[in-house]
Amino acid sequence: MSSSTNSESKPNSRRDEINGSHNQTPKSVIPTKKSKIISPSSGSSINFLARDLVETPLQTRAASPLILNPPIDNDGLSWPSQGARGRIEQTPEEAKAREQRIAAAVKVILEELGEDTSREGLLETPERYARAMLYFTKGYEDNIRDVIKRAVFEEDHDEMVIVRDIEVYSLCEHHLVPFFGKAHIAYIPNKRVLGLSKLARLAEMYSRRFQVQERLTKQIAMALSEILKPRGVAVVIEAAHMCMVSRGVQKTGSSTTTSCMLGCFRDQQKTREEFLTLLGRK
Ligand SMILES: [Zn+2]
Repeated sequence: MSSSTNSESKPNSRRDEINGSHNQTPKSVIPTKKSKIISPSSGSSINFLARDLVETPLQTRAASPLILNPPIDNDGLSWPSQGARGRIEQTPEEAKAREQRIAAAVKVILEELGEDTSREGLLETPERYARAMLYFTKGYEDNIRDVIKRAVFEEDHDEMVIVRDIEVYSLCEHHLVPFFGKAHIAYIPNKRVLGLSKLARLAEMYSRRFQVQERLTKQIAMALSEILKPRGVAVVIEAAHMCMVSRGVQKTGSSTTTSCMLGCFRDQQKTREEFLTLLGRK
């Protein structure tokens, strides 16, 4: 886990934009946290800090499940959604009932927003939206085993493999609106390679879930690392967030870049630079 944080090793990454895009939500938590820190009832400061590191690494919000649980599970179901198994194992009748429950909730939202849900244009919108939402989150029904199948090959190749410009469409878990862009995935094999199309499939599986871009980046990198045990993995994602460009700061055209470098991409500046050069970033 400790080897997995992103970005700081990449000089040009736009870290400030990442911070700008998603840190609105926990604001209200900060004062509570601060008052806890100075409270004498917290016990010894060492104990408090140790406990706090586990619970909230940034002392601003509850810890990400990524910190507390292994990020990669081969069945792909135990994290982060507990309901995912229910979705996979449902009967067609249960699937229909689920869709109808979502549609009913969407209808409430529309009404609360002031719409007339009986007008023609909106008549079937709740059902349509329910189906769209199930599609946008279909990654919950995928798992690494099925995605990879038998596409891992023994190959005596130890040069960098890069797949650039993989389109990713995901949903920001804070605002439930889309973020989308390009993922670039690279690795240096250690006697094992993965069928190239599987890199895109991995990105698809993780992006069709509720995400934050940082976690999406890391999950792809760690999955690949787990599957291939390569000498190194690098994942860079550049994406535009609807929650950022269409509300609040309204920075149209701004994009957020995240990266996760593992193994030799993390340890060796030359490797990292070669990768960034091949991406056209240097
Ligand atoms: Zn958002």
